[in-house]
Amino acid sequence: MSKQDDLDQIRADILSQDICPELAKQAKNLVMGDGNVDAEVVFIGEAPGKNEDEQGLPFVGAAGKFLNEMLDAADMKREDVYITNIVKYRPPNNRDPLPEEKEEFWPFLLRQIEIIRPKIIATLGRHSMEYFLPNAKISAVHGKPKRITLGGREVVILPLFHPAAALYNGGMRETLIDDFNKVPGIIEQVSERDAVLKIMTD
Ligand code: URA
Repeated sequence: MSKQDDLDQIRADILSQDICPELAKQAKNLVMGDGNVDAEVVFIGEAPGKNEDEQGLPFVGAAGKFLNEMLDAADMKREDVYITNIVKYRPPNNRDPLPEEKEEFWPFLLRQIEIIRPKIIATLGRHSMEYFLPNAKISAVHGKPKRITLGGREVVILPLFHPAAALYNGGMRETLIDDFNKVPGIIEQVSERDAVLKIMTD
């Protein structure tokens, strides 16, 4: 089975297990994710909005355009990273995802991460951050990488502000752009550390 087959199985399981039926009823698409299944970094937002629901792809509206610009500026290509959300159906009228909706989708997000095995998980906004860094305050920890163990494997969490929140807020926008520019350097550091650990254990 390829990584893509495994990811497709997650989609099939969400449908067959009737996850969040109320959201499913109103949504046009189940928005699983987009990008490279071998990505070194996975970006995790909140939930699809109107454009994402229509196209079946994450971050394709105004926030997505801003995300693409930041990827570009940091010398990363959208096709090299993987982008998904914690909740995979659009909440009505773009309301915040409910705790029970996040809870239902969380195991499926973990499975996506286990398959892709990224070096860095960049959370976009507090809805995805709170699952990886409980009790953290985004205003205090944004842009600061933190190593955690997830499913028995070490991974670096980089909490970032949500692009939609930062889009029209000058100060937050600058901060998010600055934090975003740190991503390639953090990937490099993690790669070097992995290489050292490999030499030590070989
Ligand atoms: N906001 C999100 O959190 N996710 C999307 O896919 C689009 C906007």
